[in-house]
Amino acid sequence: MNTEKIKCLIIGSGPAGYTAAIYAARADLNPVVFEGMQAGGQLTITTEIENFPGYPEGVAGTEMMSQLKAQAERFGTEVRPESITKADFSHRPFAIETESGANILAESVIIATGASARWLGLESEQKFMGQGVSACATCDGFFYKNQVVAVIGGGDTACEEASYLSKICKKVYLVVRRDELRASKAMQERVFANEKIEVLWNSKPNEILGDADGVNGLRIENSKSGETKDIELMGVFLAIGHKPNTDLFKEQIELDAQGYIKTLDKSSKTNIEGVFAAGDVMDPSYRQAIVAAGSGCKAAMDCERFLIENPIAE
Ligand code: NDP
Repeated sequence: MNTEKIKCLIIGSGPAGYTAAIYAARADLNPVVFEGMQAGGQLTITTEIENFPGYPEGVAGTEMMSQLKAQAERFGTEVRPESITKADFSHRPFAIETESGANILAESVIIATGASARWLGLESEQKFMGQGVSACATCDGFFYKNQVVAVIGGGDTACEEASYLSKICKKVYLVVRRDELRASKAMQERVFANEKIEVLWNSKPNEILGDADGVNGLRIENSKSGETKDIELMGVFLAIGHKPNTDLFKEQIELDAQGYIKTLDKSSKTNIEGVFAAGDVMDPSYRQAIVAAGSGCKAAMDCERFLIENPIAE
């Protein structure tokens, strides 16, 4: 069987993956991007992006990602709508398998698989997934026009989602487990000034209530008094943080306690020579598109240097 050879294989298609691809393509590394399950990454499920330099009027996440993709393709990047299912980093070239069963030998790999939304872990959450439970207000908010909904979480994402939903919905509960928000001051002020958002402090979601038609309520417990109460609503949006997408690599690549890829010093180098990491998958602190893009650039530059210094004989 013919095994395809790829010089620079990039896993993930968010700002990190595409920036790595732009740099790698311009350096003649013939990169191939495997888009993964969520083509375009997390920005395709967010609202307007107002803090990415170069867009004075802001830009929709989906639009920015299609522009990044087009820019990478302009320099010869090949983008494949597929996921990687196996990666063997025990020797170079690395043996990679795709979801369609194709076998690839990669001279170098840039991991830019990002992070995914976290869930509460309630049975009812799984049961009503897509029937009133969502982790993306931009994707699903439209279905709750003039309804009552809740957002779970107290970070920037939760506040952003609550503000977004308040434009569509009749009322938004922001369910916060402590007596303060983790979100930035600016985001907090926006929430407090919004009459349609009611913050429920010290509130732990115990159960998502519903029937055959989907969600119709949320049971919350007050962590101070222990009292529970049911709120009538039609939709529950989870915004309690993210998990790095590193399951595929965890046996081989060194991770930190939260599962993020550890990189050496200030580089994008992992513990495996020839494997680099960029973006949210290695960044527990900043997790911003611009930072991810910057780290994608670093990964491509590190990769280029590595390939020059470590050629594989034909
Ligand atoms: P965060 O980790 O910042 O916040 C998660 C929130 O969910 C916290 O309030 C946390 O509570 C709460 N939480 C976690 N687990 C549970 C649970 N089991 N039950 C109830 N609540 C829970 O994640 P975000 O996604 O909000 O933000 C991630 C990063 O992205 C941050 O750095 C943020 O600043 C950034 N960001 C920036 C934006 C912007 O600038 N426009 C927009 C969105 C995100 P607790 O506080 O008690 O731990």
